[in-house]
Amino acid sequence: MAVALPIEVGDSPRPGCNENGVVAVYKYGFGHSAAYCSCGWTGRRRHLKAAAEQDAWAHSMREKCTISVPLVISTHRIA
Ligand SMILES: [Zn+2]
Repeated sequence: MAVALPIEVGDSPRPGCNENGVVAVYKYGFGHSAAYCSCGWTGRRRHLKAAAEQDAWAHSMREKCTISVPLVISTHRIA
């Protein structure tokens, strides 16, 4: 992680990405977490919640989407 991302203040919206989304990690239970963003991006299904969180952070930095607070949202699945 030696890459420094330039932080631009007030940069103009890019075509095709006119609105930044909100990215969150959804925890579906043991061994299944995935990041989703309201901009349409979907992260890979992860066995580790931390891996899904990293997906969310990486997407947030790349696409300038907002990290959800709280980041991890637990969903209850009825088996
Ligand atoms: Zn996004």
